[in-house]
Amino acid sequence: MNLLRGALRTYAWGSRTAIAEFTGKPSPTAHPEAELWFGAHPADPAWLETDSGEHSLLDAVRSDPEGQLGGAVRHRFGDTLPFLMKVLAADEPLSLQAHPSAEQAAEGFAREDRLGIPVSSPIRNYRDRSHKPELLVALSTFEVLAGFRPAAKSVELIRALAVSDLDPFVNLLAGQPDADGLRALFTTWITAPQPDLDLLVPAVIDGAINYVRSGKKEFAAEARTVLELGERYPGDAGVLASLLLNRLTLRPGEGIYMPAGNLHTYLHGVGIEVMANSDNVLRGGLTPKHVDVPELLRVLDFTPANEAVLRPKMSQDGMETVYETAAPEFSVSVLGIDGDRLGHQVDAPSRHDGPQILLCSEGSAVLHAKAGEVTLERGGAAWVAADDGPIRLVAQRPTKLFRATVGI
Ligand SMILES: [Zn+2]
Repeated sequence: MNLLRGALRTYAWGSRTAIAEFTGKPSPTAHPEAELWFGAHPADPAWLETDSGEHSLLDAVRSDPEGQLGGAVRHRFGDTLPFLMKVLAADEPLSLQAHPSAEQAAEGFAREDRLGIPVSSPIRNYRDRSHKPELLVALSTFEVLAGFRPAAKSVELIRALAVSDLDPFVNLLAGQPDADGLRALFTTWITAPQPDLDLLVPAVIDGAINYVRSGKKEFAAEARTVLELGERYPGDAGVLASLLLNRLTLRPGEGIYMPAGNLHTYLHGVGIEVMANSDNVLRGGLTPKHVDVPELLRVLDFTPANEAVLRPKMSQDGMETVYETAAPEFSVSVLGIDGDRLGHQVDAPSRHDGPQILLCSEGSAVLHAKAGEVTLERGGAAWVAADDGPIRLVAQRPTKLFRATVGI
């Protein structure tokens, strides 16, 4: 077992304070810090702290896959760590995006190879052959747009904005309030010529301003999101698309699961994200990065989903709260030590006998594995190789540890 130092990613939408404060570093920082990666992704692996200095987790997995991953994980996923855990801090909205299914990723990767687009090219959509299911768990209040809202509700929202330029579109959706109607309307908007968007988006922003000024409550959050997105991305079809997506507020500890084809964007907040170890993102707007609308439309799932569908079921097993998801690559839980467990050594067997990453989000704990022990403070992480588990924990004050393992 080793302490694990995350790889820091600085993107423009990040925060100058959140990750630094979480990891006990000076704040504010010189650059916006967006993500801290704990995994063995070739683009930016995390670092094992050892007596002989820091070693890349990627190198450790490659040189000793049996010890680090264990036989069962190697058999299912090959000699790579199948999941990636991130601390994510969004001060500004991320791009409007979706991720492919496993079949779509394999097909898209082969197609872009045939077209001769280098894997590192900024216009490459498929950088690997994997799907990328994602689970986000909020550390602070976290605002997201995710999944198409039931169409009848979107009709109500759009009508409430009272924008006459939207009448033909809302009538289209009202006439077919289902997945096909959502596909037709989203496709119309996302492929609209720029001159049309330059008229329509400002009209929608005016409608949102009027709605917010009116003091009405029902769609106030949705209207404010239109204003926030419109201010940063004037004329972007993503502003219109936001009218069709569920707008969720996650409280600390609440999660959201995004399977293949789920259109989403993170608006604001700090959270822990765990995903399959993939970089496959198809963007539709709200970004200066590469956007590929036809490819996005190929992978999108227009089936309406309400909040209850998007939020993973949570089950309690002793001190462990498990976020139940269908992803084979990962399983995420929180180990909560408090009350009678404080001051005692407690067993924390994993649901999977593969490797584990533990990340302390609150309090402090000593972790004991077969080989050695480490102390985790808030913002600190540890790598437990497959041949080093199971672990035991000791905490003197209320403590929470996020745990990522391979899915069952
Ligand atoms: Zn995503």
